[in-house]
Amino acid sequence: MAPNRRRFLQGVAALPGLAALGSPPASAAPPDRDVYGELGVRPLVNAAGTYTYLSATLVAPEVRQAMDAASRKFVHLVELHQAAGKRIAALTGSEAALVTSGAASALTLGTAACMAGSDPARIRLLPDSTGMKHEVILQKSHRYGYDHAVRNAGAKLVEVETREDLERAIGEKTALMLFYYRHDPLGQIKVEEFLEIARKRRIPTLIDAAADVPPVGNLSRFQKLGYDLVVFSGGKALRGPQCAGLLLGRKDLVEAAARNNNPHTDTVGRTNKVGKEEIVGMWAAVERFVALDHAALWKEWERRCRAVAAPLGGVKAVQTEIFVPETANAVPHLRIAWDYARLKAEEAVRLLREGDPRIETRPEATAGIEIAVWTLEPGEEEVVGRRLREVLTSP
Ligand SMILES: *Cc1c(COP(=O)(O)O)cnc(C)c1O
Repeated sequence: MAPNRRRFLQGVAALPGLAALGSPPASAAPPDRDVYGELGVRPLVNAAGTYTYLSATLVAPEVRQAMDAASRKFVHLVELHQAAGKRIAALTGSEAALVTSGAASALTLGTAACMAGSDPARIRLLPDSTGMKHEVILQKSHRYGYDHAVRNAGAKLVEVETREDLERAIGEKTALMLFYYRHDPLGQIKVEEFLEIARKRRIPTLIDAAADVPPVGNLSRFQKLGYDLVVFSGGKALRGPQCAGLLLGRKDLVEAAARNNNPHTDTVGRTNKVGKEEIVGMWAAVERFVALDHAALWKEWERRCRAVAAPLGGVKAVQTEIFVPETANAVPHLRIAWDYARLKAEEAVRLLREGDPRIETRPEATAGIEIAVWTLEPGEEEVVGRRLREVLTSP
């Protein structure tokens, strides 16, 4: 439509009463542009879960709307950060909150806060930690890809295994103790004991629970336990912007993290920008998430698991089972097993990926195929079940 005509119609629609004469309602959305088609990028059915490399999540409609509204006016970014932080803190039972550029950025900023605090000279100096406490202690079994984000602030990691190791490792250079919640089952020191030791020695604590909602109660659980800082990803189950995350916890530390962050130039966090759209979107996502009927959602996910499994009923030597991971993405999934001598699991994954529609399954499966249903759009559970049957009965 020519710009002039569009402007004319908008003007007309804004006048009361004229909509009845056949003008399009002011709210009429333009048809979706096929951006992926134009780019030649083939979209996929996400039966894998909230994996970053698969673009993690679809922002909830309420979030999309809030982001669109935020994109239409200028604001002072520090004021917006503070206002959204206050609302998110109240919604999550936290003293304070900061919207970050993903959970990874929350790890960097939380570490920077424990090293430089709000001291301007130290903030400018990072990641050079000269003269600062700069050791971050964690269990060896809690080393993971995202501890790079902690090292980005200039921290040095100190690995421990036993309680005695930990007690010995704490010293004058200790800036922070880091706990990776997903690996709680792997470490000798569990989530509460780790905290108890830190508190006795007055060391700040940070827990990475990025993929640990649901349950919704986890949004406030770790602060209640006594962790000083808690990190969540915004673009996973919360269905906020993919590039947003949350740093929750102690007011002085969250404020220090904000001082180490964009829009302040000459800071370690200047590379971790979130725009007004993400800040507002993250707030809208938390508001939506805490108001959801989580019990009904759980039932819906179980129903979807059964719907994916249904077409496989009666297929020779195929077994299905619903399972819930112990930590991280702790929601109902479907596991499918069969006779791998007939068809290798990797081959089945490849056929699903290369078929039409393109279907991605859980990359962490160690045998057979694992299906996440919480990232499916309505109706896709039937498509996935049908394709699975085709693949598993193919000659
Ligand atoms: C996904 C994830 C992150 C990173 O989250 P982003 O929001 O993508 O930055 C960090 N830690 C854990 C445990 C995660 O699962």
